[in-house]
Amino acid sequence: DLRISVTDRCNFRCPYCMPREAFGPDFQFLPREEILSFEEITRIARVFASLGVRKLRLTGGEPLLRNDLPKLVEMLASIDGIDLALTTNASLLASQARALARAGLKRVTVSLDSLDDEVFRAMNDVDVPVARVLEGIAAAERAGLAPVKINAVVRRGVNDHTLVDLARHFKGSGHIVRFIEFMDVGTTNGWRLDEVVAASALIERIDAELPLVPLDPNYDGEVARRWAYADGEGEIGLITSVTEPFCATCTRARISADGRLYTCLFAVEGVELRDRMRAGASDDELAATMRAVWEQRE
Ligand code: SAM
Ligand code: SF4
Repeated sequence: DLRISVTDRCNFRCPYCMPREAFGPDFQFLPREEILSFEEITRIARVFASLGVRKLRLTGGEPLLRNDLPKLVEMLASIDGIDLALTTNASLLASQARALARAGLKRVTVSLDSLDDEVFRAMNDVDVPVARVLEGIAAAERAGLAPVKINAVVRRGVNDHTLVDLARHFKGSGHIVRFIEFMDVGTTNGWRLDEVVAASALIERIDAELPLVPLDPNYDGEVARRWAYADGEGEIGLITSVTEPFCATCTRARISADGRLYTCLFAVEGVELRDRMRAGASDDELAATMRAVWEQRE
């Protein structure tokens, strides 16, 4: 399971991810030449696929900010045996969904932390309204990218009082809402344990209004704990990264926008692949590096 970041830039400033105090107007994002080209991304994906990667997800930053993204999707979709998906804040999805689907994208995950407009605007910190994201989800549906997964990061006292409504809104729609425990990613997001709402507590709150029954995982290494609505109107997921870490069964590798390979979201140091490629490494040499990193991960 491979995630490739196609840009380090974002048009949102979610305080749990890219708080504006740390990512202000003077922040130096990567210059163009340091970012992997489409050819380099495709090469990495192809070599990883030869080593057994089956799921590939494009992410960021905000992936829809990358110019010509459908072109990259088309290049990646041509790799045999790869299931291609994308995670986006959906602010630009309405105008791109059709081109992405045509290029071969199969699925999309949309991040949406609340349906309460005031709460959502505060959580993206750039005043983007909920309606814009809902338009993006509708466009994804029309383009055949449904069912959509909806990711909501849960922060106590910020959006947790709006989450039963979020679940209710998508109940019966075929889309799957997944609640993510607020994680201590990076060094700038002011993470505090007391802002984490344990998934078990959230389930109790949702179950009290929309009765739930537990489901088995779809596959080994699935990170979301699944719950179905007792009336058969779909399911939700809980990503319990803090209260019940799933490191032991994690199957994810990550490539940063500048071509470093990480085996953990919390890792500080990655192994660079970009410079190896630019220095003329063969596919076999790249594969050997990838294999070594993966086999030695803890
Ligand atoms: N910009 C895109 C988006 O927001 O969907 C893709 C990149 S974003 C980093 C990927 C996912 O990570 C989003 O669903 C986001 O909510 C989640 N995320 C970011 N920071 C997080 C944190 N501190 N704790 C939990 N989830 C986080
Ligand atoms: Fe941007 Fe996504 Fe991070 Fe929000 S979570 S700041 S949308 S990359």
